[in-house]
Amino acid sequence: MRIVLLGAPGSGKGTQAKLLVEKYKIPQMSTGDLLRAEVAAGTDLGKRAKAAMDAGQLVTDEIVLGMIQARLAKPDAKSGFILDGFPRNIPQAQSLDAMLARLGQPLQLALLVDVDTDVLLKRLTGRRTCGSCGAIYNIYFSAPKTANKCDKCSSALTHRSDDNEQTVANRLKVYQQQTAPLVNYYKAQGKLRTVRGVGAVSAIFKNVTDIIESQIRPLADVMGKIESAAARQAAKAKAAAVAKAAAAKAASKVAKAPPKAKAVIPATKPKPLAKKAMPKKAAVKKAAPKAKPKKAHKPVPKAKKVK
Ligand SMILES: [Zn+2]
Repeated sequence: MRIVLLGAPGSGKGTQAKLLVEKYKIPQMSTGDLLRAEVAAGTDLGKRAKAAMDAGQLVTDEIVLGMIQARLAKPDAKSGFILDGFPRNIPQAQSLDAMLARLGQPLQLALLVDVDTDVLLKRLTGRRTCGSCGAIYNIYFSAPKTANKCDKCSSALTHRSDDNEQTVANRLKVYQQQTAPLVNYYKAQGKLRTVRGVGAVSAIFKNVTDIIESQIRPLADVMGKIESAAARQAAKAKAAAVAKAAAAKAASKVAKAPPKAKAVIPATKPKPLAKKAMPKKAAVKKAAPKAKPKKAHKPVPKAKKVK
């Protein structure tokens, strides 16, 4: 299955991606991870990416797409992938579509994890982390028993600087401007499905897998049937031999058929029509499709003359 996950920062799509990886045994491809891996491996793409970053520039779409393509070529991506964090805008989506089309692996599903903006703001700005044990809280949804104190180790909780309201509001604005239009892009392709990203993680994941089962599995089943049909080629060959024999029998019957048709039709039709030419035409019409054999050809010119 080939899936793109869409959703605002704080939508929880990363969590859903991890659950999908576990359930379906397909890799999650996030551009950040790909970038780090390529740079660490010192590949050509990695070097170009590093050079761009060192120069304070953005890594180009071309490099990112190259990394995705390289990742797709690995064996574990044979049965699909989950793209998370890419594409982020329409041009990237178009480039991705073009690349996947070249590979003969078009996207099957764009899954939007939809969460209202006020909830996103609370999720992102309410986050508090324990500096000692790493426990995570949210002052709106999962507050510690004592304000700013870790339930587990009583250490002070910290508020990450990129979780402040200004930064969060800015991230959401960028998402709205650049990534939200992708929803319409994939909707136009008939590939968009939406799941509400509120409530228990497990309940959201149930909805996600329901969508996948109904969207992608039927396709996969059809493909599987085609493949197993190909594997049963030997059986088919036998069936074909039987069919040939049947066809030969049918052909011999057809060869005998024309005289019967001629015998039947003149018996009924001449009475109302009275003309002698008409029965011949009727006989030709009925006999011709069945009887490619010699006898059918002779009456045809006569029928034309009648017209
Ligand atoms: Zn703690």
